[in-house]
Amino acid sequence: MHLTALAGGVGGARFIRGLLHHLRSRDDGPHTLTIIGNTGDDITLFGLRICPDLDTLMYTLGGGIHEGQGWGRVDESFTIQKELAAYGASPQWFGLGDKDFGTHIVRSQWLGQGQTLSEVVARLAQRWGLPDQGVTLLPMTDTPVETHVVVEQDGEQRAIHFQEWWVRHQASIPAQRFVVAGMNHATAAPGVLDAIRQADLVILPPSNPVVSIGIVLSVPGVREALRGTTAPVIGVCPLVGGAPVRGHADACLDAIGVPVTPDGVAGLYADFLDGWLVDKADESSVTASDLAVRAVPLLMSDLEATADMASAAVELGLELRR
Ligand code: GDP
Ligand code: CA
Repeated sequence: MHLTALAGGVGGARFIRGLLHHLRSRDDGPHTLTIIGNTGDDITLFGLRICPDLDTLMYTLGGGIHEGQGWGRVDESFTIQKELAAYGASPQWFGLGDKDFGTHIVRSQWLGQGQTLSEVVARLAQRWGLPDQGVTLLPMTDTPVETHVVVEQDGEQRAIHFQEWWVRHQASIPAQRFVVAGMNHATAAPGVLDAIRQADLVILPPSNPVVSIGIVLSVPGVREALRGTTAPVIGVCPLVGGAPVRGHADACLDAIGVPVTPDGVAGLYADFLDGWLVDKADESSVTASDLAVRAVPLLMSDLEATADMASAAVELGLELRR
């Protein structure tokens, strides 16, 4: 089977690690997986291009992630960041470790030599053994795009970079809306639309529905490909007990006027979603009638629990394919 998943950072990466664990345990393999990663979080700092969600996916699947944090490298040191601080260089609110800097330096070098982001991601992913696991990691687009958040500060409307809102302000300033700078002239990266059209199964992991999955969906052609694919599209709800498990998905949903409920999130995918996994605790709240809904435990507490979630998503997909 060929599977395709859309993904943000930590939630997407942890789920996909469980999905790969599950796929390896099946006796109908081998299976392959294409991941379409969000690049709306990307930012240029200290002259370096940083792709937080793609790196979280790569480090998590390649065994280099800081498990407790969910992002960044394990056994990290911060010498470069301290040196930058000594010069008064800003920003200081975005944590960048020394090993992580290595990734950003080599990516910026290759981009500077004229390679596309897709080409660069493919080279980086080699080192982390993704192709050996049957995984192709694609950025959603090669066009530089950046999610900005419109906020009101001191009586004035301002657009700030998503990372400034999320990391520096911890999403504490009410967002009025999200805009993706550069998206008006962006095109899907090579392979993205075909990966959706030609998949046997498409999965939406429990990534942030607004600023991760929502941004991937705004790439021209992606929604149409999801509507047109013959593959079942299965979503995994990022809410457990009516609240996000981590991060500020509630603030993001509030900003776009969508209820913080499994129904609210499913509504964002209504034009293409076939199956919806919700947590047992949320089962009674779900009213969507034109969807195949299954309630299973949705806490990614360890690899086995996550693989069980992935197994439920794959089984639901196979049922709907028949
Ligand atoms: P980010 O880019 O690092 O913010 O990560 P994602 O967008 O991929 O995922 C963030 C989402 O993952 C949040 O909305 C969380 O609610 C969700 N999430 C994190 N851990 C879990 C979990 O154990 N279970 C479920 N169902 N969702 C989770
Ligand atoms: Ca992200």
